Amino acid sequence: MVDVAVIGGGISGLATAWDLMRQGLDVVVLERQANPGGNAVTERIGGFLMEHGPTTIDARAVAATDMGGALGLDGERCELGPEVRNRYLVGNGGLRPIATHPMGFLMSDYLSPGARLRMLVEMAIPRGRGEADESIAAFCSRRFGPEFTERVMEPLVRGVYGGDADSLSLQAVFPALVNMERRYGSISAGVMMSRLSRRKMPGRRLYSWRGGIGSLPSLLARQLGDRVHTGVAVRRIRRNLNGFVIDAGSGGRISAGAVVIATQPHVSAQLLEGLDDEAAVAAGDIEAPPTAVVYLGYRREQVAHPLDGLGFFSPRSEGRSLNGVQFCSTMFEGRAPEGHVSLAGYFGGDGAPELARAPADALVALARDEFGDLLGAKGEPVVARVRHWPRGLPQYRLGHAERIAALRGAEDRIPGLFLTGNYFEGPSVGACLKLAGEIAARMSVMPGARWGGDETRIPAHAAP
Ligand SMILES: Cc1cc2nc3c(=O)[nH]c(=O)nc-3n(C[C@H](O)[C@H](O)[C@H](O)COP(=O)(O)OP(=O)(O)OC[C@H]3O[C@@H](n4cnc5c(N)ncnc54)[C@H](O)[C@@H]3O)c2cc1C
Repeated sequence: MVDVAVIGGGISGLATAWDLMRQGLDVVVLERQANPGGNAVTERIGGFLMEHGPTTIDARAVAATDMGGALGLDGERCELGPEVRNRYLVGNGGLRPIATHPMGFLMSDYLSPGARLRMLVEMAIPRGRGEADESIAAFCSRRFGPEFTERVMEPLVRGVYGGDADSLSLQAVFPALVNMERRYGSISAGVMMSRLSRRKMPGRRLYSWRGGIGSLPSLLARQLGDRVHTGVAVRRIRRNLNGFVIDAGSGGRISAGAVVIATQPHVSAQLLEGLDDEAAVAAGDIEAPPTAVVYLGYRREQVAHPLDGLGFFSPRSEGRSLNGVQFCSTMFEGRAPEGHVSLAGYFGGDGAPELARAPADALVALARDEFGDLLGAKGEPVVARVRHWPRGLPQYRLGHAERIAALRGAEDRIPGLFLTGNYFEGPSVGACLKLAGEIAARMSVMPGARWGGDETRIPAHAAP
């Protein structure tokens, strides 16, 4: 019998449990895999540090919590390297550098003169009408023109979210753009106003830690200690008079006053079945198409390109199999041994799920071809690793807000049930951390009685 059972030991579940532990609650984390961390997996291979999942974290998200200090991670922080000067897009069969400042696209000839002119008149385009959910592609075409959408936005959305700009909801993925249009009538005007009001260009926001992003779940799990139970797959959750009974098959049963479901949406859908059918259907409607990450390490002289940037994305019209590539050893120090470089290629996602399921050797061959063609990489890589993610990033498709409302409704209908994960407020690690803090804060002010009737189970200092 525990106060709270957290199901799923990825960043979302671990961070929520860690906050609850610090509130003095008796919490357990039930994680299906042998190791906690979910998507956040870092591996060292002979001097290379490889990220199978997230590679960067948004500095603002960690700064908003005291997690960095409490876990001893602040001193481990590593910033983007000095060589990160460009972003690249594939155009006319080669890599085209785009400077990272706002005028980058206007000053480069990556877009046709007509498309650049169309971007310039964005301020004169009237506001969209109505409150209806709009796709990212429709919004961008309306405001910046079709060429910008096809050659910039679509590859960015495919590379970052593994998604399709025609089907993703602008409101759910980029709510700031919706607000800017409402407030200023134009995105260009909104960007200018926010820069003016901050009086300086925002600093670089992405960073990592010396030991990689996997340091975060490792340290959270270490502090949680024997509260984390790995190799435990939860099958079913039932309600009873005292709260919930969690059935983990051969892993046994646990009674809990409250339960936090912090799994991927398809698992949440299964666990919600019988508890709240409306929420189960909503979670089941959120797809997370497969993704594969191909990591290759080379000796420096094997790669002709200066690798002076974050990496590149490729528009669909270029016919490339890769969604995007990161120049890992340029992004952060300590990612490759002296005299070596490392690259990660991302395949699959919404546009090419079957590619993400291809065998590892086929994916390595594809990546080698593309790196050879676009980056001048030659010869056998020094290391090669492939990670298949059968479920990649959740897709915030049109109608996402309604699905989330149905899921949040279940929390009102079932006292003591809490839902979190990367399909609610954004798929980034930062968004997961922020939501974890919010869920734990909501639980801390909730009278124990709301959790199923037995107030005595909640420690006195945790009640309001
Ligand atoms: C390839 C890739 C690259 C990414 N790059 C970035 C990046 O650079 N920056 C960034 O901010 N974000 C990035 N992300 C996104 C980010 O990593 C994830 O959104 C985030 O880590 C998700 O954490 P989570 O805990 O919500 O979910 P998960 O990590 O999916 O954790 C869910 C956990 O639930 C467990 N579970 C499932 N079923 C059960 C069950 N029945 N019983 C018990 N446990 C169960 C799973 O084993 C898993 O550990 C990337 C993701 C991927 C896949």
